[in-house]
Amino acid sequence: MEENNKNVDISVIIPIYNEQQIIHELYNRLQKTVSQISVHYELIFVNDGSKDHSLMELLKLSEQDPRVYHINLSRNFGHQIAVTAGLDASNGKAVVIIDGDLQDPPELIAELFKKYQEGYEVVYAKRKERKGENVFKKITAKLFYHTLKRITSIDIPLDTGDFRLIDRKVVNYLSQMPEQNKFLRGQIAWLGFNQTEVLFNRDKRKHGKTAYSLGKMIQFAMDGITSFSDKPLQLVTKLGFAISFVSFLIILYAVYSHFILNRTITGWTSLIISSMFIGGVQLISIGVIGESISRINKNVLKRPLYIVEKTNCKDNTTHISPKKQKICSQSKTKH
Ligand code: UDP
Ligand code: MG
Repeated sequence: MEENNKNVDISVIIPIYNEQQIIHELYNRLQKTVSQISVHYELIFVNDGSKDHSLMELLKLSEQDPRVYHINLSRNFGHQIAVTAGLDASNGKAVVIIDGDLQDPPELIAELFKKYQEGYEVVYAKRKERKGENVFKKITAKLFYHTLKRITSIDIPLDTGDFRLIDRKVVNYLSQMPEQNKFLRGQIAWLGFNQTEVLFNRDKRKHGKTAYSLGKMIQFAMDGITSFSDKPLQLVTKLGFAISFVSFLIILYAVYSHFILNRTITGWTSLIISSMFIGGVQLISIGVIGESISRINKNVLKRPLYIVEKTNCKDNTTHISPKKQKICSQSKTKH
């Protein structure tokens, strides 16, 4: 039962939020695929404060199978942070990140691994089509990826989620990136290395519903844009200049009209419209600046990204990273 963690060929990280119905199928399909790649593997399930019986299912699995690890976070920290916790605890030479709702087919891991063996350090799964997602999600996702590509200086591949395989090297660099607002797919693109893609059809959710509400999607999009682009801030400045210039022209015209044409411009309507317009622009600008400040604040506070409530991970390697040590220490205090 004692696996030597140093020799793990492949780690799979699965964030879990209210997925009790499918955990068993998920495990079976993962286990089947990954065990064909290597016998030295680990499946790391991160329970992100599920409100259903997901944790119980995970505890059962990790009792049956020594290659299954659970990390139970103390509350819901969000998808990106749950994945980060999994990355911190992983040992594999290659690490796969996959959604826990079976929208990402576990069988594709075999193909991802093939590309990895060809020498690629990042192999991301690119969606050919999105089954069962509504038109709204399809349109917003498309719009988001296109905007992101246009306004950020780095090339984040279109239509990819977090389903991907990354080399240990990349995992180590990721863990050195200190930002509190995680946007993993952007960070991985930023890191570079040899990247390639494998195409797949994204299935629809089997059970439950997406945890990404509109609000969360907007927050996620904001994280992506603000972490990788100064464009919103620059836009605010440009807008300020543009509006000032236009108002200056209008003032010139008003003066000209009053003194030369002897016609004073009157009008409550124009006054209200222009002051409301300026008011709106100012509020948006303050909002954009506020977003930046709030991000600075989070990074200055340096709170821990996540809190581990309990886990069964082991720290029996000689070269254990401090982050992993911190996670594993929870397996000794609890139980
Ligand atoms: N998830 C999570 N924490 C959350 C929300 C989601 O760990 O706060 C997990 C969820 O269980 C799933 C994955 O992240 O495995 C993707 O979530 P979801 O299916 O809701 O996102 P979508 O596929 O709609 O982008
Ligand atoms: Mg999903």
